[in-house]
Amino acid sequence: MGAGWLSAVPLLAKWSGRMIQIKTAHEIELMRGAGLVVAGAIAAVRAAVRPGVTTGELDAIAEDHIRSRGAIPSFLGYHGFTGSICASINDEIVHGIPDPRRALALGDNISIDCGAILHGWHGDSAVTVTVGEPSAEDAALIDVTERSMWAGLARAVAGGRLTDISHAVEQVVVAESHPYGIVDHYGGHGIGTEMHQDPHVLNYGRPGRGPRLVPGLALAIEPMVTVGDPATVELEDGWTVVTKDGSRAAHFEHTVAITPEGPWVLTAEDGGVAGLAPFGITPRS
Ligand code: MG
Ligand code: MG
Repeated sequence: MGAGWLSAVPLLAKWSGRMIQIKTAHEIELMRGAGLVVAGAIAAVRAAVRPGVTTGELDAIAEDHIRSRGAIPSFLGYHGFTGSICASINDEIVHGIPDPRRALALGDNISIDCGAILHGWHGDSAVTVTVGEPSAEDAALIDVTERSMWAGLARAVAGGRLTDISHAVEQVVVAESHPYGIVDHYGGHGIGTEMHQDPHVLNYGRPGRGPRLVPGLALAIEPMVTVGDPATVELEDGWTVVTKDGSRAAHFEHTVAITPEGPWVLTAEDGGVAGLAPFGITPRS
């Protein structure tokens, strides 16, 4: 089962019979605690990214941070996964396995995906960063991926429908002059007392469909964008998902709660204040 089950849920996963979990305001507060642990872990890993550091070392930094906050790394042991982060480099899209023999080099792009459990509640988030200065092409790829995520987060609003988020993500990507690919075999997910819950969140599609967005719903929104064709291949390690054509990919993710006051980005240190400002949204911090 392992492959594809870690951060980005496979499109074909069957969720029938499972329910969308609606959290109370208090439970969302608890999820904020987990989200801040994840935010801190990703910040610590990000600060350690440099030429020569191994993805195994980065993994240890994340695990140390998570445990120092009294939380549990949710990836570790998940269907047999051996890391506390996924470390996916260059043409690796998601689910790269941390490796003490794999050192970063200048110009690499690394996606750091991390999850933690605090008091039974989950947070899940990912960023992509370049080791050193990004090329213009890498900078543009990373920028469009992050912006598409924020556009999706901005639509995590009560009264809307699930695919309003999907559509908003897609619109940002297709508006670019470069023909980026949107990985369509993986996407976001509900999150709460489990890392992966209903509903699956596509990163494309027509708006106005799917479950209605209501306060207490929490979602992980996670676009994966490629410079070239978005077709994917899973490596023989049973986890790492790469682009079939070898083109580079980027991945961003935040966990967001729909509240009566609007989106609250639980895995952003500032609650999403900076990222949602361009949309005229002021979440609680
Ligand atoms: Mg993730
Ligand atoms: Mg996820």
